[in-house]
Amino acid sequence: MATIFSRIITGEIPSYKIAEEDRFFAFLDINPMAKGHTLVVPKQETDYLFDLDDTLLSEMMLFAKKVAKAIEAAVSCERVGVMVIGLEVPHAHIHLIPINREGDMNLANPRVNLSNEEFEEIAANIRSCFA
Ligand code: 5GP
Repeated sequence: MATIFSRIITGEIPSYKIAEEDRFFAFLDINPMAKGHTLVVPKQETDYLFDLDDTLLSEMMLFAKKVAKAIEAAVSCERVGVMVIGLEVPHAHIHLIPINREGDMNLANPRVNLSNEEFEEIAANIRSCFA
């Protein structure tokens, strides 16, 4: 059965899309640690990030870099933090999280509640900065 992220990539499940290339897709995390929290995924279904082949992993990091630059341009933050967990969804993904201090990367922090309109606005702002 397709992973939830594959179903997001095909559009079967809606998402706040940020960017798409041949082999990668980026969209807002539905339960964000900060405004602009974005997930970067390969279209290929592989559970564990470090099981991706070298070429795909390298290209994914370059795609993530472009997404991070767009987040930096669109969201007020000191920098974009990078996190890999992967315990909830068995489809490799990189978390990109706008942060201002080390504590902003703490998984125990309360998540940010955003309305549909806020998600739409953030996604549109980041998309407009994606080169
Ligand atoms: P992890 O697997 O890295 O522990 O966490 C998976 C992440 O995916 C979580 O931050 C969670 O909020 C996010 N997530 C899970 N299901 C969905 C979904 O259906 N849509 C979106 N946009 N994000 C999801």
